[in-house]
Amino acid sequence: MTRVLLLGGTTEATALARLLAEARVDAIFSYAGRTDKPMAQPLPMRVGGFGGVAGLVAYLRAEKISHVVDATHPFAAQMSTNAVAACAEAGVPLVGLERPGWHAEEGDAWTHVADMGGAVAALPSEGARVFLAIGKQHVSDFAVKPGNFYLLRLVDPPKAALPLPNAEAVIARGPFDLASDRQLLERHAITHIVAKNGGGAGARAKLDAARALGLPVVLVDRPHVPPRRVLTSADAVMAWLDHSADLGV
Ligand code: NAP
Repeated sequence: MTRVLLLGGTTEATALARLLAEARVDAIFSYAGRTDKPMAQPLPMRVGGFGGVAGLVAYLRAEKISHVVDATHPFAAQMSTNAVAACAEAGVPLVGLERPGWHAEEGDAWTHVADMGGAVAALPSEGARVFLAIGKQHVSDFAVKPGNFYLLRLVDPPKAALPLPNAEAVIARGPFDLASDRQLLERHAITHIVAKNGGGAGARAKLDAARALGLPVVLVDRPHVPPRRVLTSADAVMAWLDHSADLGV
């Protein structure tokens, strides 16, 4: 019997949830619980961590999960690493649903860095007006360069003071578009953008806006995830599930 655990938190996970619901596949949608109001899904939902690899193994067994689809964000490397280990231990087939990373086009001025420390190092020490398009994690890393202004874009209003002396937050949930991202950069007189190479159409708007305005971008490379089968579309995952069911896996 097919029973899918879908690890979510991305546009791709939401697209797959719709296909699974339409096809009446028995599936559970899992959120980490990072945002105050996670988007409703047309599948039964659970929210919160599993408790590491051991917790996920126990969950897979208790819920009799037959397949896991890891559609978490490419930077959610801990969850993806845990899923690889837990699925191997529990003998459950796993697939990653992953959007391709972005590649620079003519007119882009990107500096690639390996991690957030590299992004901090790549910025001027003072006087820059930086759009930190990195979510809420790692914002405090930039406190070592207090002479810059930082603009954050967050899904939920911050519950405590921002950990940077000269910063402002705009509250918005993607997907975003070129015109409004260009306006945002102009309104705040942004000189530098820091972003993660998350991939995807909606999140790319800030990079297109940067190109239009001739602004430099510091782009953080994706973290390492152990090898696993990867598919790049929700349709391909549906075909994989169909095929596995035919084989009785
Ligand atoms: P992470 O560092 O890889 O995960 C940390 C821990 O959070 C995991 O070990 C797991 O806890 C729990 N977790 C993560 N995703 C989960 C899920 N879908 N269901 C249940 N538990 C989950 O992940 P993160 O970077 O904090 O991202 C958290 C969520 O935000 C993910 O769902 C991701 O898709 C979404 N998101 C992340 C980013 C980003 O830039 N990192 C951007 C957009 C959306 P246990 O070990 O206790 O199981």
